[in-house]
Amino acid sequence: MPEATTDTHTPLMRQYLAAKRQHPDALLFFRLGDFYELFFDDAKTASRELQITLTARDKERSVPMCGVPYHAAENYIARLLRQGYRVAICDQMEDPKLTKKIVRREVTRVLSPGTALDPSLAADQNNYLAAVHLTDSATGLAFLDLSTGDFRAAEFSGPGATAQCLEELLRLAPSELIFPSTRGPFGPKTDAATLDPLLAQIKTRTPVDDWAFSPDFAVPLLERQLGSRSLEGFGLAGHPAAAIAAGAIVHYVRTTQQNEISHVDSLRFYARAECLHLDQVTARNLELVEPLFSESGPDVTLFRTMDTCCTPMGKRMLRASLLRPMIDPAAIESRYAAVDAARADLIRREELRRSLSGILDLDRLLARISLDSAGPRDVLALAASLKHLPEVRKSAAQLASSHSGCHPKERSDEGPRVSSAPQTTTPSVTIEPKAASSEFLWTRSSTTLDPLEDLCAAIFSTLVPEPPLTLAEGGVIAAGIDAELDDLRSIGSSGRASIAAIEDRERRRTGIGSLKVRFNSVFGYYIEITKSNLASVPADYERKQTLVNAERFTTPELKDYETKVLTAQERSVEIEKRIFADLRRRLVDNASRIRRTSATIAEIDLVANFAHLAALRGYTRPRIDPAPFLEIVAGRHPVIERLMDNAGETRFVPNDLYLDASDNTSAPNLLLITGPNMGGKSTYLRQAAHLVILAQTGSFVPADRMTYGIVDRVYTRIGASDNLARGRSTFMVEMTETATILNTATAQSLILLDEMGRGTSTFDGLALAWATLEYLQRHIGARALFATHYHELTMLADEFPRLKNLHVAIQESPHGIVFLHRIEQGPADRSYGIDVARLAGLPPAVILRARQVLRLHERSEQHNVAVETEPSLQLTMFTPLSQRILDRLAETDIDTLTPLQALNLLEELKAEIGDRKVSTS
Ligand code: ADP
Ligand code: MG
Repeated sequence: MPEATTDTHTPLMRQYLAAKRQHPDALLFFRLGDFYELFFDDAKTASRELQITLTARDKERSVPMCGVPYHAAENYIARLLRQGYRVAICDQMEDPKLTKKIVRREVTRVLSPGTALDPSLAADQNNYLAAVHLTDSATGLAFLDLSTGDFRAAEFSGPGATAQCLEELLRLAPSELIFPSTRGPFGPKTDAATLDPLLAQIKTRTPVDDWAFSPDFAVPLLERQLGSRSLEGFGLAGHPAAAIAAGAIVHYVRTTQQNEISHVDSLRFYARAECLHLDQVTARNLELVEPLFSESGPDVTLFRTMDTCCTPMGKRMLRASLLRPMIDPAAIESRYAAVDAARADLIRREELRRSLSGILDLDRLLARISLDSAGPRDVLALAASLKHLPEVRKSAAQLASSHSGCHPKERSDEGPRVSSAPQTTTPSVTIEPKAASSEFLWTRSSTTLDPLEDLCAAIFSTLVPEPPLTLAEGGVIAAGIDAELDDLRSIGSSGRASIAAIEDRERRRTGIGSLKVRFNSVFGYYIEITKSNLASVPADYERKQTLVNAERFTTPELKDYETKVLTAQERSVEIEKRIFADLRRRLVDNASRIRRTSATIAEIDLVANFAHLAALRGYTRPRIDPAPFLEIVAGRHPVIERLMDNAGETRFVPNDLYLDASDNTSAPNLLLITGPNMGGKSTYLRQAAHLVILAQTGSFVPADRMTYGIVDRVYTRIGASDNLARGRSTFMVEMTETATILNTATAQSLILLDEMGRGTSTFDGLALAWATLEYLQRHIGARALFATHYHELTMLADEFPRLKNLHVAIQESPHGIVFLHRIEQGPADRSYGIDVARLAGLPPAVILRARQVLRLHERSEQHNVAVETEPSLQLTMFTPLSQRILDRLAETDIDTLTPLQALNLLEELKAEIGDRKVSTS
């Protein structure tokens, strides 16, 4: 921006530059007549991003400029927001016709990705604006979806608070983050080198004045927004960091929207421990909501596979639930019971889903109504949706009663009830319901779902059935609502009759058959007489306008009439606007009722969706066990199974899984899966995680039977070369991620390590995988699955009885190997790398030579085992090593080694052996 040259600019340009100075980091849309114009760098950016022509302004040839017609601006702005830009709208504040001086212009709104409201937002996804605030003792996080009113906050404290907050922030994937401008999102103390690349995932990061994050400003502002004097009711008492972050969000949204945000009337505070924790890497590896590789398309995600929801609210809840599964067994059991009841009753379920399908996006309609950006048709759409609520409530009641009929034991009229965990190998516990959420959904919604009939009736009776898009021309409000409006309208309609009467009379009086009484917006009412009849025009006609073939006249009577009709028209539009505003106000005043209903509809839709899928695909009800079990009989990978079904391919091969991380047992808690590439190892691992996540989301699962103990965290790590999408220093990334697991996993966690150690040399990789497995067994004892092509690791089973070897079954035939995708007991009997290479079409000569080399290699290995290795070290898998290295390893106590020391040791050892690489498969 060439600030220094300001004086040389025209007054208009000076006005522009003044506005731009106030919004340096937004693209300024400057209204000039029928266009919004952009100048300077803004113009270059917009022309590039929107593919519109860059020109130069006439009077100031040096100024790059481009523009969009104002009526099409919404579209262009939405595109810029999606690309992460902020946009400031500078409008004309007075009518150019009425002023001689330069028109006054002001920035009326600032639009940013985190506050977008445009209808093109993805219906199945929230669009969050997030704020982070640090106090001395805690890190607060708040986030708001302005388009739905979903507003939440969380707080983190103690060691690792920042990391946890960051993890949660990234999981939410907000489209915009605000933070205090001089301190940065995580304060000056946090290491920028590790933080910045992570924060870079959030496209738009907006600094906000520090004072907006001060307790004296932010907390009272939040209290005013939520309409309550204390924040206790929202669980925010004693959590100032979260309250301040939330207050800063309110400030930012209010100032950028320059509008009330009355639909944002509640906030949910939550603690991290409330849900199964999935870190961002795990969510991504498991393709819960986003595909790992964009080219594979959205169908590979668990979300898409599980989404047959009927409403946008249900879809958004499903998406959020998959990222935050439950951990309260009572709440989970209660959802199973609800799913089960709907699954068992096809007719009710179908009725229910049909009613749900008629319900549009209540949250987003309400948000538009609150922000006064809704037209008559939006309001009518709300009513058309509300109309289905009584049917939904009725279906819920029927499901509630048919369910209690089927399960007399579970019947109770005293409120919450939960079915106990069904019989398992160990005695089951009866789980006491804790929260309202564990109340049986169908009973709860048949009594508490607010059908909003009053609002629905008010809208239907107030508006005409097919209103125009806007209020500008009237014709929106139904007859019978306002006496004055009805009167004014009858003037309008009797007017049409009077015009016909006047026309008729004047024709007879003048004897001119072609005489016409007409109206246009410039001249009002007039009498038109063709040139040939001008001689017969009476003296009381007053000439108004001359055309080529005709003249137009008016009369005192017509003038009177015109005034009456036009005032009636103006006045009636005014009344219509007032009535519409009253209706809007009434809806806004009832916003919290609508939002509560919307939240219940989301849950009903989610449960009906699970029931539908359970029936359709034969999913079964999981059983919760108090012990840290994971037993799956004939489990299937939900995504791959469905993709195979859709493609009409051979059926997915079901597999069993048994893990038990209880203390006093010798049952396996860690499965080591070996076998060739493409055998089905990764699928088996992910399937286990998907089933646990589905189960804890309250869904039935693709398995004949599943019994599990609640999992507190799921970790998935994929060895570097299986994860090429990540690009940069992948081995380092893999090790950092592994470090996180070893430092934070608990005995209740589920850990999946897929091809760990692949990203480095075989020797390093194998050693690290080995050490990691030992550490997992000695110090964590969680349920874990470890897929590897390091055949050598299978020996660990000798040392750790609870580590169990499995392999993927292969059929060998004269034509090569066939993958059976069956998981079988015991280690793979050998590596199949060369067989896979052959399948892949490597030339026969190469295959032959590879087999020779392998044989030579194996022979030398056996030879060296005899001479060089101490048996206790179990290092027989390595090719000849100098005794020095073996001694170094022998004297190293892995238990006391820090990860850093281990890496240093590895480096030294590596230096010893030089560049020699060892191949094992
Ligand atoms: P690995 O990790 O052992 O290399 P993957 O798990 O990636 O193997 O599986 C390779 C392919 O085999 C998958 O893309 C899938 O199409 C198929 N596959 C895996 N498991 C099964 C199964 N249980 N039934 C049918 N096909 C399977
Ligand atoms: Mg794999």
